[in-house]
Amino acid sequence: MDMDTTSTRTHDDIRIAPRALATEAVHAGRDDLARQGLHAPPIDLSTTYPSYDSRGEAARIDAFAGTGAEPDGPPVYGRLGNPTVARFETALARLEGTEAAVAFASGMAALSAVLLVRGSMGLRHVVAVRPLYGCSDHLLTAGLLGTEVTWTDPAGVTDALRPDTGMVLVESPANPTLAEVDLRAVAHACGSVPLLVDNTFATPVLQRPAEHGARLVLHSATKYLGGHGDVLAGVVACDEEFAGRLRQVRFATGGVLHPLAGYLLLRGLSTLPVRVHAASATAAELARRLAADPRIARVHYPRIGGAMVAFEVHGDPHEVIGAVRLITPAVSLGSVDTLIQHPASISHRIVDADDRKGAGVSDQLLRMSVGLEDVDDLWSDLDQALGRPVRGAGNCATSHMEPAPAH
Ligand SMILES: *Cc1c(COP(=O)(O)O)cnc(C)c1O
Repeated sequence: MDMDTTSTRTHDDIRIAPRALATEAVHAGRDDLARQGLHAPPIDLSTTYPSYDSRGEAARIDAFAGTGAEPDGPPVYGRLGNPTVARFETALARLEGTEAAVAFASGMAALSAVLLVRGSMGLRHVVAVRPLYGCSDHLLTAGLLGTEVTWTDPAGVTDALRPDTGMVLVESPANPTLAEVDLRAVAHACGSVPLLVDNTFATPVLQRPAEHGARLVLHSATKYLGGHGDVLAGVVACDEEFAGRLRQVRFATGGVLHPLAGYLLLRGLSTLPVRVHAASATAAELARRLAADPRIARVHYPRIGGAMVAFEVHGDPHEVIGAVRLITPAVSLGSVDTLIQHPASISHRIVDADDRKGAGVSDQLLRMSVGLEDVDDLWSDLDQALGRPVRGAGNCATSHMEPAPAH
């Protein structure tokens, strides 16, 4: 191999040995920085980019209209792409093991774009497995984007497919019950229909759905990827062909991510493995303590682990929400601090009560997103918030920890 350092080859031409996730988390999307004499990535806030070559611009816009590939050379307009956001997309694709990733203004904007891509191809039917995040369920059920949904369990996916099925949608672990889906089996059941896995809860640290056959991996980046409760964002990791269509939809509908959010997400990714592992260890310990507690009817904690714990109380869940002091009673998840919420009242309120219950979201269920606090401090807050045992309601014999069912 030519070792001449004056070679004009670009950094991308150099084949880098596969790197571990922890290494990618701090380096992906930043490969060019040192050669530019930079350490922190620059934030490019430009909405537009000057060009004295309008013939060239026309050719680049035509190319984008054809394939949706990122225009070569300087960007054209903020809605077509932004260099800071592109760094985050590159990094997330590397972590998920996909060719590309396309970022959006929120997780819901990301899901909407996928539905619009398939709908625009005449594939308006979606097969989905409950539970899903409440607003994802609502978007499908309400048919706001012209989609029609068939709800099924993983074993029923093949039978639910139709000639106009555009995709199969699952979450694993699912929001809010932490039910797990066998991704390899469901990907097989999909045949040639794209499987979309919402990987928000697991993150690529615990699970890389593309390795199990998912064509589309969606994140509410608002949660663990951002990780600090201060960025609203969504992203789809996928092959370059689908990414091109997503960029075209993003360009046409405008659900773009702000460059500052792109910067914060890239920064969030660098600590993602450390945050997820630390919070997961604490969550597993809290799940153990809850499972042994007579005030708890049932604990849901996934086999793959993670920082989310769900549990059903014998007493009034609203009292627990009102009594926490260290833990913040708030919807959302994936931040450095611990949050708790009552899905039937908040995250899944928009889902019809019968559908909610059918999906295993009981009125007694609380969902906790475990952060980076000390485990004993969290336990003492939970312990006082749970109050006194409900008389006659429970004892250790009825309290058990169940791994969320693998459908
Ligand atoms: C929060 C969430 C979403 C929606 O993401 P937003 O960023 O709030 O739009 C989608 N899926 C899951 C699993 C979520 O938790």
